[in-house]
Amino acid sequence: MPSDDVRARRAERLRKQKLKEAPKKALKIAAIVVALAAVGAVAWWAATNAPSGPRFAHEHPALAIFVDGERINLRDPVYDYGRTQDLRSHMHVTEPDGGSTWHIEGNFRGGIPDITMASALERLGILLRSGHLRMNPDAAHGPIEVRDGGNATLRLFYARILPDRTYGDPPNWAPVEDYVNFVPRHGYRILVTFGNQTGEELAAMLTAAMNPPIAPENLSVFASPETPDGPLVRFRAGE
Ligand SMILES: [Zn+2]
Repeated sequence: MPSDDVRARRAERLRKQKLKEAPKKALKIAAIVVALAAVGAVAWWAATNAPSGPRFAHEHPALAIFVDGERINLRDPVYDYGRTQDLRSHMHVTEPDGGSTWHIEGNFRGGIPDITMASALERLGILLRSGHLRMNPDAAHGPIEVRDGGNATLRLFYARILPDRTYGDPPNWAPVEDYVNFVPRHGYRILVTFGNQTGEELAAMLTAAMNPPIAPENLSVFASPETPDGPLVRFRAGE
């Protein structure tokens, strides 16, 4: 049995240790309180500042690329999800609308998906810069690289899908100057063309770029009036 003296000394030691630890404990509690407050502030900010529209874009534009009047085959495994494993951007390849329908996902920033032509094409191994296009060299079409020069230029046209799911008659094709930063949106028909075609040749390419149609199941939409560029946005619920 320890003597009273030993017990007293032990008690004294314990008391001192507790006194020493008290500030540490207080600090720990303070840190937890601060952390909880920070989490709360972030949650409150997110709740009050989050846009009321959908947060994730899952959109299906359609893409056609022509070089010197020839349509490039985008129904190639290198552009398929099976190869890219990239949900942000891949071509539908095996589906009936394959080689045309383009799968895009992104976060909405200010009502617009945070993905551009250049960044989405880059994920397909395609380089797009102002006046410069380079296709994925691993595709069956082989190396294709073109730059603006002489009368030949790189151009982009797009047609918006209307609430009645047509593109108007005639289709509402419009040229895009800043095609590098252009945001491909749901239902758009997009024509990228390099060459010096004018008039009838261009009209023929625009007509061809309307096909194949985006499959109806890939055109299913939710209304999103927040998006500035029309009500046609599809997103996955629960993501
Ligand atoms: Zn898709």
